[in-house]
Amino acid sequence: MEPILFLAHTEADGTLAKGALEALNAAIALGGPLTVGLVGAAVEPAARQIAGCGAARILAVEGEAFAQPRYATDAAAAEALCRAAGASLVLAPQTSRWARAIPGAAARLNGRADTHATAIAVADGAPAVTRWFYRQRMEALLTRSDRPWFVLLESGCAAAWSGAPGEASVERIEASAASRTTVSGVRAPQSGEQTIRPDAKLLFVAGAGWTKKQPDGAAHAGVAEQLILGFLRASQASLGGSKSLVDLSGEGQSVLTCMTHLNQIGQTGATPRHPKGLSTCCHGEEPHVVGWRFITERRAVNLDPNCGWARGKADVVYVADAFEVMRHVNRLLTR
Ligand SMILES: Cc1cc2nc3c(=O)[nH]c(=O)nc-3n(C[C@H](O)[C@H](O)[C@H](O)COP(=O)(O)OP(=O)(O)OC[C@H]3O[C@@H](n4cnc5c(N)ncnc54)[C@H](O)[C@@H]3O)c2cc1C
Repeated sequence: MEPILFLAHTEADGTLAKGALEALNAAIALGGPLTVGLVGAAVEPAARQIAGCGAARILAVEGEAFAQPRYATDAAAAEALCRAAGASLVLAPQTSRWARAIPGAAARLNGRADTHATAIAVADGAPAVTRWFYRQRMEALLTRSDRPWFVLLESGCAAAWSGAPGEASVERIEASAASRTTVSGVRAPQSGEQTIRPDAKLLFVAGAGWTKKQPDGAAHAGVAEQLILGFLRASQASLGGSKSLVDLSGEGQSVLTCMTHLNQIGQTGATPRHPKGLSTCCHGEEPHVVGWRFITERRAVNLDPNCGWARGKADVVYVADAFEVMRHVNRLLTR
């Protein structure tokens, strides 16, 4: 197997996030000589965290200039680490930071980059990458002869590396910190509380039905919001929404303030990975259900016995009023 560089940027506390540890495990499983390349303001915590991973060398581009995600500095760091490691295959986690900088680093090295990989394995002695196309409808197995080959691995596709921390010796590598871009702060979407939890066991999805007129002739968006947030707090589930629901705020209808476009699941939304999913007040139309591709066990609550979920798209459909069901579930969870 050819030499491999595992490339990771540190988090604000200097350690590696779960997605990076997953990519590390995938790199180790390939079986080639492994070098680690770290980027960040201070990489010692990360180096100690993965000291026992079996890498021959731990290289780092370190300094304040490399604390913030920024194309110029991240691409320069990735390029310098790849040159120093002499690796022909570079595996890194699929983060927004690497997705922006890695294709540029690959171009500077006359290599190639593949993003959104969901697996990498050795086939006939060469690395082969699995990737989905056309909004997760087609799966392809790719190999490349161009080197260096940069591969960004999606989170949730491999087990995270978990070894004991230890002492590590780190070789510092120089990279250009020149940049015309100054990071002046972080602007996060307006949202009352954290509702997107990629590592949650359950994805709870709310549909437009929560805001529609109910059998008593009135809409109860306020009650809906309390039921949904109560369930999320008690279960620590992640919150998803249908397109119809997240679009409502733009149409002046009663809305759930805990829901933004970032929560949207589906063809034009996200395809998160969770072991279980519960859909409520959502019809289960194909463009929405496409986003459930990686949800293993699916259940739905809908008043309509002919809803889309009942047509083979869910494992269990409860034909019931979601207000009643969730009120009861919350009572059970908090008792
Ligand atoms: C190109 C394209 C891309 C699209 N991309 C996406 C996408 O990414 N994501 C997405 O979600 N959609 C997407 N859509 C839209 C999609 O086709 C549907 O219109 C949308 O998912 C419907 O949302 P909904 O099920 O929440 O709302 P509705 O269709 O209005 O369904 C509401 C449901 O709530 C139920 N309900 C009402 N009250 C209750 C109650 N008290 N208890 C239980 N059930 C109740 C009703 O029976 C109904 O089934 C896309 C469409 C197109 C054409």
